[in-house]
Amino acid sequence: MKPSDIFKCEKCGDCCKGYGGTYVTVKDIEAITAYIKTDPENFVENYCNMSGGRPVLAQQKDGYCMFWDNLCTIHPVKPKMCKQWPFIKNVLIDVNNWQIMAGICPGMRIDVSDDIIKECVSKELLKNQ
Ligand code: SF4
Ligand code: SF4
Repeated sequence: MKPSDIFKCEKCGDCCKGYGGTYVTVKDIEAITAYIKTDPENFVENYCNMSGGRPVLAQQKDGYCMFWDNLCTIHPVKPKMCKQWPFIKNVLIDVNNWQIMAGICPGMRIDVSDDIIKECVSKELLKNQ
């Protein structure tokens, strides 16, 4: 099975709401600021909150990411964290995380074995290194 066999985004936006915040790396900030035509200082001040000393994307009053507007408005440059979902390292650390994440993500299949999940996550992580 391929990663695309066990996950297909249904564009519901549920993963763009709450859930602890989306960290942005220096590379993410460079790409997003070029895309929305601002500078890193203004971006961190006006589009982010600090969490554990690192910037995370700020949220709207309803809890959605500030870049959510029925779709991701920065899709081509969205943060690494968003691009990787749901093929993240935490699933390799504990495969049960896949089932927990699937509780909020209707695009993830839960009727596949742990071995297949781990194989697909490994493949995607290697591809995105
Ligand atoms: S929760 Fe899952 S299906 Fe919904 S937008 Fe996020 S990745 Fe796509
Ligand atoms: S950047 Fe886009 S994909 Fe990531 S949380 Fe915000 S709206 Fe969702």
